[in-house]
Amino acid sequence: MNYDIIFDRCKEETLFGRYITLLEIEPLLIKFKLTNNVSIIGYSVLQKPIYKLEIGTGKIKIFMWSQMHGNESTTTKALFDFLNFLKSKSDFSAKILDAFTFCFLPMVNPDGAFLYTRENANGIDLNRDAQILSQPESKILRQVFDDFKPNFCYNLHDQRSIFGVGNSNKPATVSFLAPSFNENRDVNSTRIKAINVIVAMNAVLQKYLPGQVGRFDDSFNLNCVGDTFQTLNVPTILFEAGHFTNDYNRQLTRKFIFIAMLSGLNYISENDVVSNENSLYLQIPQNKVTFYDIIYKNIKINYDGNEIITNFASQYKEELVDEKLVFNAYFSRIGNLDGFYGHYQYDAQGKLYSDEFKNKPEIGELVNFCLDNHIKIVNGLVKV
Ligand SMILES: [Zn+2]
Repeated sequence: MNYDIIFDRCKEETLFGRYITLLEIEPLLIKFKLTNNVSIIGYSVLQKPIYKLEIGTGKIKIFMWSQMHGNESTTTKALFDFLNFLKSKSDFSAKILDAFTFCFLPMVNPDGAFLYTRENANGIDLNRDAQILSQPESKILRQVFDDFKPNFCYNLHDQRSIFGVGNSNKPATVSFLAPSFNENRDVNSTRIKAINVIVAMNAVLQKYLPGQVGRFDDSFNLNCVGDTFQTLNVPTILFEAGHFTNDYNRQLTRKFIFIAMLSGLNYISENDVVSNENSLYLQIPQNKVTFYDIIYKNIKINYDGNEIITNFASQYKEELVDEKLVFNAYFSRIGNLDGFYGHYQYDAQGKLYSDEFKNKPEIGELVNFCLDNHIKIVNGLVKV
């Protein structure tokens, strides 16, 4: 199976970048409504519609929801790529539609998507609201789960660029988790099904993305949606779309999520998922916080007359300015950076730091400075 070619044919070109809101997906839903079942199943805090799509005729029911965290849009892009695949009328798509019935909520948190926040408009993290269901978006998600009665759940998210795979120097471009259903993190007949699918997806992804798949921490928290659904005996898989070198728009990562979705479904359709692949699952290295966006090494700083050679690191914050997303680099760590990697690394070779303020970097400030008074670093990067 050449998933590269399938992706290239199915990529939804109208969706690009990280700022994906209802404005971007509604035209696609309208297009889709011509042949399939799209409905509004409720409204967000700010009365924006929450859409549901159903497609397929198979007996295995798959429930996928994306952007319950408003600023996590990569999997939404991949979901529409996947929808294009389902509509592609290929033999493979016919097989998938014959094996599965899908229910998609492509944007659970449209207010957060518009505001580019993790939380909803009330400032609540919907992925900590699975028990008390205090928010309209949480109630809707739970209602669809209860009504649809899925056989598998795909819980679709983005993770920050800080995660690496184990102690390697590779970013965790895709991470998975079969959430726990108890404090003991036991593996039961439900959780093992999620684990087996993850092992199958990882085996395919390694061909496209060697060493860049991680396993997420499985601490139990019943307030999280995945843990709750797993506890209700529906195998649930957490997908985390992460960073790939230079791909801040996550246009490559969306492809790897697409490949994961499709290869996992292919596995489910061809296997009865009764084997036990837990040992292979545990061989997937755990995610670790080992990355900064940019690391600057060997910079000379004059601290009140004492010149020292040190390192510092910066991290981008994605900030909305006039409804456009900008990446602003902020100082996030100064000093020892042993064990950390930068997606971009710059060796200053002892050049002297200066800036317009105190001539020393301060955590939380924007990364604009000079080296030896002639190399300008603007918003984190050397200006040429
Ligand atoms: Zn998330």
